[in-house]
Amino acid sequence: MQLDSSRKTLEGTQTLTWENPGTKPVDQLYFHLYPNAFMSKNTTFMLESGGKLRNDKMKEGSFGSMTVSKILTLDGKDLTPSLQYVRPDDGNQNDYTLARIRLPQAVMPHEKVTLRMNFTDKLPVVFARMGYLNDFIMAGQWFPKIAVYEPKGTRGLTEDAWNLHQYHGDSEFYADFGTFDVNIKVPTDYIVAATGFPYKPPSASNGFKTYHYYAEDVHDFAWAASPHFQYVEEPFSAPNIPGVKIKLYLQPGQSMLKDRYMLAAKKALRDYSDWFGPYPYSTLSIVIPPAVGNGAGGMEYPTLVTGWSADQTTEGHGLERVIVHEIGHQFWYAMVASNEFEEAWLDEGFTSFAEDMVMQQEYDIRPNIPIQASYITSPEALNRYAWQYGSHGKYAENVYMRAKLVLLGIEKQIGGQDMIRVLKAYFTQWKFKHPNTLDFEQTLERVTKKSWKPYFDQFVYNASMEDFAVSSIHVQRVNQKGTTEYKSEVVIVKNGGSYGNVPIYFHFADGTNKQSVWNPTNNRVKYEFVYSSPIDWTVIDPDYSQVLENKHINNFMRTSIDVPTELRWNIGASKVIEMITRWLAW
Ligand SMILES: [Zn+2]
Repeated sequence: MQLDSSRKTLEGTQTLTWENPGTKPVDQLYFHLYPNAFMSKNTTFMLESGGKLRNDKMKEGSFGSMTVSKILTLDGKDLTPSLQYVRPDDGNQNDYTLARIRLPQAVMPHEKVTLRMNFTDKLPVVFARMGYLNDFIMAGQWFPKIAVYEPKGTRGLTEDAWNLHQYHGDSEFYADFGTFDVNIKVPTDYIVAATGFPYKPPSASNGFKTYHYYAEDVHDFAWAASPHFQYVEEPFSAPNIPGVKIKLYLQPGQSMLKDRYMLAAKKALRDYSDWFGPYPYSTLSIVIPPAVGNGAGGMEYPTLVTGWSADQTTEGHGLERVIVHEIGHQFWYAMVASNEFEEAWLDEGFTSFAEDMVMQQEYDIRPNIPIQASYITSPEALNRYAWQYGSHGKYAENVYMRAKLVLLGIEKQIGGQDMIRVLKAYFTQWKFKHPNTLDFEQTLERVTKKSWKPYFDQFVYNASMEDFAVSSIHVQRVNQKGTTEYKSEVVIVKNGGSYGNVPIYFHFADGTNKQSVWNPTNNRVKYEFVYSSPIDWTVIDPDYSQVLENKHINNFMRTSIDVPTELRWNIGASKVIEMITRWLAW
């Protein structure tokens, strides 16, 4: 691969050896040509995203593309004419992100085929994870990437099949594990960061330098380059990390932030390895893009993450949070390699959940769960394809936030210790494989020895949230044996899904409190009290134990006047910041 730093192109040759993992002969191969998402305004990616993602906008007229100019077999047969674009998701004839080639001869099960391909990438200005910004280069999804051929049994498949999707506005990726040996040729003054590790020093010739990188057991390979990187590396080990070199590529003027990035990386690596399982790779590279290139920031690739460009004046822990999040993806994406097209919650929800665990343990930052739950206004099932949520907001609200709450709801029922046991068991069983939602559900059931079907049916496979409400309070004066007493009737209703018991508190005018626990198998329950004082108010779940409840406003009622505003939402400035930083990371 050679970078032309003035034309902003990559000239590449790829030798791919593919082994048929299935049980049937395969006579065609499929490739993702992701950069073609940026080819025109009419690609599926552009139509769906409108050229906008997170807080980032595609620069007007800055298109990107990938051209595959040659495909040869080892014995020199030219397969280039057989290349055909396919659009299985939407039939959009202007989309060129998925292509098929026909092989002259089928590959038998467990046999291999090797192809040589020539390709050219034209980089867009950094947008949606890739491109250039002045002389900074972020090369994600830069090579013709073979699609995943899933043998029967994978993710519930009853037949061997290719998993085929175009590049969508709201979707990340899916790829198979392999070994990469990559030569990256750049002008001599460039520094290159990449997946894996350099297996020999860069070689120089004619004003160019070639970096040699190697990576095993990874399903993607990304690199970044800049003549301005400020490079620092530190070795790190911990009980579950035999030894990793943390390689940090900062922007000029960020050296005072070095320790914050490094510390966040070490804390995250150590905690995740303790909780889920060892980080087995020998390197972890962290690339900080230029501040205006944050479209390339907050992204995960195997053994390489991009952070969020900050400076000393940046408040809060957004810098750390993004690093902690992306390193979480080394476990939930890079190793446990779920299908991001089809079940994005398995990487984003799990990573968001894990990120909160680290932020809490290491930085004492607790998420405001009731506020976050109230943010869920368009709940959807979690196993939808990423682009089916209809907008970036709805996609993010569900696969990051709601998915995290669903995991938290499990933790509320089994406790923190057992939650870690579940995640560790799931990680151990599924690392370097492709699990689906059912695989996680089965691990959960195996570890906790109980059925989770009602919970998954409501909150994972369907769009339920919880909503409990005080429906009415009636107080009536009654005379009992000459003394005045009051009959208070309180009706509580369930408008959504539910799990476990719901605590309810009753406050009487004389200051007495009574509490009850409701197991909401029905949609309605009536409480009746005859007591010397009338009921003053009732509140459902004041400690927010029901983490999937998103409408708290109706959880409180006062006898005389219904004052729902009594439950005031105090969204402090820090919480607003917390919610905004959430949109800085993929
Ligand atoms: Zn993410």
